[in-house]
Amino acid sequence: MDQMDCVVIGAGVVGLAVARALALQGREVMVLEAAPAIGIGTSSRNSEVIHSGIYYAEGSLKASLCVAGKAMLYDYCAARGIGHSRCSKLIVATSDAQVAQLHGMLAKAVANGVHDLVLLTREQARALEPQLECLAALHSPGTGIVDSHALMLALQGDLHNAGGLVVLNTPLAQAECAQGAITLIAKDGTELQANIVVNAAGLHAQVLARRFAGLAAQFVPPSHYAKGNYFTLTGRSPFSRLIYPVPEAAGLGVHMTIDLARQAKFGPDVQWVDSPDDLLVDPARGDAFYAEVRKYWPALPDGALMAGYAGIRPKIQAPGEPARDFLIQGPAVHGVPGLVNLFGIESPGLTSSLAIGKYVCQLV
Ligand SMILES: Cc1cc2nc3c(=O)[nH]c(=O)nc-3n(C[C@H](O)[C@H](O)[C@H](O)COP(=O)(O)OP(=O)(O)OC[C@H]3O[C@@H](n4cnc5c(N)ncnc54)[C@H](O)[C@@H]3O)c2cc1C
Repeated sequence: MDQMDCVVIGAGVVGLAVARALALQGREVMVLEAAPAIGIGTSSRNSEVIHSGIYYAEGSLKASLCVAGKAMLYDYCAARGIGHSRCSKLIVATSDAQVAQLHGMLAKAVANGVHDLVLLTREQARALEPQLECLAALHSPGTGIVDSHALMLALQGDLHNAGGLVVLNTPLAQAECAQGAITLIAKDGTELQANIVVNAAGLHAQVLARRFAGLAAQFVPPSHYAKGNYFTLTGRSPFSRLIYPVPEAAGLGVHMTIDLARQAKFGPDVQWVDSPDDLLVDPARGDAFYAEVRKYWPALPDGALMAGYAGIRPKIQAPGEPARDFLIQGPAVHGVPGLVNLFGIESPGLTSSLAIGKYVCQLV
């Protein structure tokens, strides 16, 4: 049987960042990816926003890894010439109740170590974005956007340069965890033994972990899938900054983001689905977007939104339950030497990816 030091399951942005971090420590690393290319799961179905760290509970992994990951990501993008823009964002309140919420968000951000937010009056916000309607806004100068594919290619390049490799078209079927080593069994029956195994299979991480013999079932959380649909704006973007409403239950509200080519899109909404493969966008969902968007951009023309794409948030809480933190479990939690499971790596997973890589290295 072939032997490896470290095997990472999944070549999304998180798996690649973890693999890179392990390889830069001088370890032998292989990434097993089920798909025929890297990064075609959730990592290519998101808003590509470099989040600032505003929304997350104080002391949570989401807060600390987002704030650390943001700084690492800006540095990495600058050093490697990865397309990105520190375009900033406005979180807009469109009711009195939401104005009060903005103050709460400001306090939460400060507790998370985000000190650059500025509260703006309606007039100050409209001086920045004349087409915007709101009662007040929070300006986040540290928020930006990144070319997520260029980022993943750079991570893969670093991995290769450090002697690691990505093996495509190789879905892992199951594993047997024993003291000393973990035996991985691919769908085609190939077996491989590794000292360290990192399960970064995204939406499939729980299904996979349930097939790890030797890992107690109590350490695998349930899987829930919250699809987010995007609708693309035809024509020029009315804003040069990202525009977010005050967040709602399971997502951040129907916001407007731009990509590096200044194409504007709205979304993602929240649609709980039963399958991680349910990725088609129902054009009829666009009807609800018009009312949401017109709360902050009244001039949105009829018929201007086109069905775009969808991504699915890998939730570990059921609909209606309170938001959960990233769940990153190493041997100290589940008792299996060499195994790290990453569950619930939803937003801000892209922003946090480099910090997650560093964190996982510390666990093993
Ligand atoms: C709608 C939406 C918007 C978002 N917006 C943002 C944002 O703006 N900013 C931000 O920071 N984050 C955002 N996120 C979160 C971010 O996209 C994710 O946290 C991140 O992409 C997760 O990366 P990953 O590598 O864990 O998962 P994935 O990208 O899903 O990668 C997992 C990989 O594992 C592979 N795999 C699965 N099973 C197996 C198996 N058995 N064997 C081998 N390989 C397997 C899959 O094929 C896949 O390639 C958003 C997420 C969603 C859904």
